[in-house]
This record gives sequence, C-alpha cells and structure tokens, in this order.
Amino acid sequence: MVLSLSDTIPDFPKPGILFRDLTPVFADADAFRAVIDDLAGRFAGRYDAVAGVEARGFLLASALAYASHTPLAIVRKAGKLPGEVLSEDYGLEYGAATLEIRPGQLPQGSRVLILDDVLATGGSSNAAATLIERAGYVVAGIGLVLELDGLGGRQVLSDYDVYSIVAE
Ligand code: IMP
Repeated sequence: MVLSLSDTIPDFPKPGILFRDLTPVFADADAFRAVIDDLAGRFAGRYDAVAGVEARGFLLASALAYASHTPLAIVRKAGKLPGEVLSEDYGLEYGAATLEIRPGQLPQGSRVLILDDVLATGGSSNAAATLIERAGYVVAGIGLVLELDGLGGRQVLSDYDVYSIVAE
C-alpha cells in the first residue's frame, strides 16, 4: 500500500534528486493507520518513549506516542528549540544540516524509538540517534516508512535496530 500510494518527483528539492513523496500515505486514513500499527507491532514492548525527526517524523511519532501512550520527544532542525539544546551536524543526500534536541525531558536511560518517514543516506537518523544518546537515553530502534536502497543508510545505522515498512 505504501509503495502504490507514494509519488516520485524528479528534481526535488534540487536538480538530480528523485524525491519520494509520502504525503498520499498520510492522506489515506487506512494507509496511515496501517503504517502506525505496523511500527507499533514491530517495536512493541521495546520502547519507553518515541522521538520524531522534523518534520514528517513528527506525524509518525505523535500518532505512535498517542497509540502506545508513551512520551514524545521532538528532534528539530537548528534554531527552532528554545533554551538549552544539544546539536548534531550531519550530511544530507542534498546538502548539510543540523538537528537539535532539548535534554532533560525524559528519564535518563529511557528507551527511545526514533521515527522518520524516509531513510536515504542515514545522516538524519544517525544524527537523531547520536542526540538521543548524548541526552542520556538509549536508542530502542529506528522506524521508517520507506527505505531507499543503494544510498548506504542501513550501513550507517548498523549499530541500531532499523526497521522500514518497505524498501526499494
Ligand atoms: P538521509 O538523512 O539522507 O537518510 O535522508 C532522510 C531525511 O531526508 C528524512 O528526514 C527524510 O524526510 C528526508 N528525505 C530524504 N530523501 C527523501 C525522499 O526522497 N523523500 C522524502 N524525504 C526524503
């Protein structure tokens, strides 16, 4: 269902990038529910909190946090979080970026499940995982909707339990 619903947009956000758009999955109530149920089932009993990576990871993480009645942490792009933050720079398929988290919001040692929509080079998920660890938590796993094969993301994340609903 995920693959049949997703769109492929050439040259977005930069020339030469073939962008997979999952907004039709979020726009389909049955598909979105199936995605959340799939992720919840795969990681059941293994996490104490979920963390969403800005921005589409927020959609997944908030639905899963609600469904599993667990706390929600947010991992944001640079400059969006107030107060004390931890920052991690990383490379993207199309550029460079920084992710940040506010420390001290979950109990130390919490097992945190990281969620994002697409795995490409693994830079974002790896930066999010590093932030979770620097904040004193444990990475319970990384859950994704779509994994793009051939970009090395899974190798970058070889220390973590990575699950994607579909890979292509
Ligand atoms: P990575 O850091 O290279 O693994 O890229 C993954 C991050 O960039 C995720 O936050 C995705 O939302 C976004 N991203 C990269 N490529 C795509 C794509 O083709 N479609 C949608 N999001 C993408």
